[in-house]
Amino acid sequence: LTQDLQNLRDLPAETPDGIRLPLYTNAGLLSDLSHSLARGSEGIGLYRTEFPFMVRDSFPTEDEQYLLYRQVLEAFHPRPVTLRTLDIGGDKALTYFPVQEANPYLGWRGIRISLDNPDIFLTQIRAMLKANAGLGNLRLLLPMISRVEDLDEAIVLINRACHELQDMQENIVLPPLGVMIEVPAAVYQAEELARRVEFLCVGTNDLTQYLLAVDRNNERVARWFDALHPAVIRALIQVTDAARLHGKPVCVCGEAAGDPAVALLLLGLGVESLSLSAGDLPRIKWVIRSFSRQKGKELLSLALNHEQATSIRAMLLQALADAG
Ligand code: PEP
Ligand code: MG
Repeated sequence: LTQDLQNLRDLPAETPDGIRLPLYTNAGLLSDLSHSLARGSEGIGLYRTEFPFMVRDSFPTEDEQYLLYRQVLEAFHPRPVTLRTLDIGGDKALTYFPVQEANPYLGWRGIRISLDNPDIFLTQIRAMLKANAGLGNLRLLLPMISRVEDLDEAIVLINRACHELQDMQENIVLPPLGVMIEVPAAVYQAEELARRVEFLCVGTNDLTQYLLAVDRNNERVARWFDALHPAVIRALIQVTDAARLHGKPVCVCGEAAGDPAVALLLLGLGVESLSLSAGDLPRIKWVIRSFSRQKGKELLSLALNHEQATSIRAMLLQALADAG
């Protein structure tokens, strides 16, 4: 079986009814890049820039960030690389930027820290735009958006950084911009957000955590955390419907995208791409090559008749078993 999966490496992620579903990988450390390349990743769907910040003891300078981002963009060129701006807070801490809060997941996190510290944000954006000069495979992604104001403010800063650089240097372009849909409010305003950006990226880790009120890292409540909860599935439907209305593609980049049972539903939902841990890529490619979109749609509509994640999972596992 391992050999079969290895042979899949060079085959396209395409359904039997001819739908291409690009499989990107999630990364944050340089080792993720080599794993991604070895598994035949079609690009980086989520680069967590906070990881390189976390393994240091002071903020990286603009030049240091430039070199890092350049390396990632070059390694995958011409394949797309989605660099997400800093998402610290929650469970991700920087020793040199301590944040002490009673409820970190509901606190100063992601875009909120960036908007309160425009110098940190602008430095990062400038480094990304410069790294993209002459390459053009950068896509920018903003984490933890919960209001349109956050997005609008971020866009003003990104445009400013871009125009300032364009005055000094050639080859600086405004890259496609996307938002993470990972806070329930963003699901309900997916239309307003989709109108403002080029793509949406669903983070099922935080979206599940916030929809179900379950800490994603707390073992004691792990059985309450399930991306197949009917509420999560309905949220995903709302997001894909909103994006389709505005002609914007949706990528799903949380851990759930690497779960074959969930991937079946995502196929049926008609998302444009998935971004997974490199280790999950071969299995998910097998799923995509084994199930038509039509079959995915049927499984999705069956899932909607169930009231519980456990019975939805059982139904999907049966479908996977039937396919071998
Ligand atoms: C998510 O929340 O699903 C996600 C992909 O981002 P992170 O895991 O970095 O919070
Ligand atoms: Mg997240």
